[in-house]
Amino acid sequence: MSGDALSQDPAELRRRIDTTKAHPARVYDVFLGGKDHYPVDRDAAAAGLAANPRGYLDVRHNRDFLRRAVGTLAREDGIRQFLDIGTGLPTAENVHQLAQRVHPDTRVVYVDNDPVVLAHARALLTSGPEGRTDYIDADLRNPAQILEQAAKTIDFDEPVALCLVAILHFVEDAEAYPIVRELMDALPSGSRLVLSHLTEDLNPENIRAVQRTYTERGFTFVLRSKADVERFFTESALELAEPGVVPVHRWRPDGAAPVPEQPDAAYLASLDPIERVRYQDIGDVTDADINVYGALGRKA
Ligand code: SAH
Repeated sequence: MSGDALSQDPAELRRRIDTTKAHPARVYDVFLGGKDHYPVDRDAAAAGLAANPRGYLDVRHNRDFLRRAVGTLAREDGIRQFLDIGTGLPTAENVHQLAQRVHPDTRVVYVDNDPVVLAHARALLTSGPEGRTDYIDADLRNPAQILEQAAKTIDFDEPVALCLVAILHFVEDAEAYPIVRELMDALPSGSRLVLSHLTEDLNPENIRAVQRTYTERGFTFVLRSKADVERFFTESALELAEPGVVPVHRWRPDGAAPVPEQPDAAYLASLDPIERVRYQDIGDVTDADINVYGALGRKA
């Protein structure tokens, strides 16, 4: 594990956790039905849902896209190394669990800049005995630091899947495109890029309202069009894998998303919309619901 990150003293870590303002990892956790968030994050999620009432489907389908993309990379492409930047809080199936189920010797490096994710990093570090996981406490906007620290775990002579899933909308254009290029330039031929991104292409009114709720809370929130998302691939000379840049629920659907256990109807009806999210069956989705593009590319 990355010593500097995890040897951090708990008092220092607690000081870094700000419970007075919402944080993306924690708001995302609210939508996934997790428990690692604070009242400010629930308020932010509630405001997001008021702007876009089925917005939890974007988050849940984004996570399900990640599940399918990692599975595809492991099973079909034999990828055994993952660099997952913007990891988020641990959830039911994290990248190393998905990938090590196929190849137990898979190595995964997780990177996030949120101290709450860092506090849960040990839960992310439970690699199977044949593989390895590591955690880097770093910002995507510092790719040189990420690459240097990742080299302790990842062999940069073998293909790597770079995962930038639901993170680039927190980075402005002037930085986002050069960062992706710098990271992909460091990876060898046969490496992959897994990317997902929020867009206003499909439901501009709702998604701009969502964007406003988050910018009011101090998040950078850049919406990108399909062409903008494609540019991440073309600028790094990556070949887009089928079916290209598509709304995440259309990316190689396999119908295998986990269905949460259902409480009885009366109890469900008594819950507020945020509490109800964790019981939603995400199979109940239409094309009008999803505002996140997903894609996979390959470096020649
Ligand atoms: N990739 C996961 C989680 C997405 S939530 C998934 O798709 O399921 C976005 C994550 O990116 C959060 O954990 C947040 O803390 C992290 N993040 C946002 N901006 C970041 C930055 N500049 N550097 C590193 N991590 C960042």
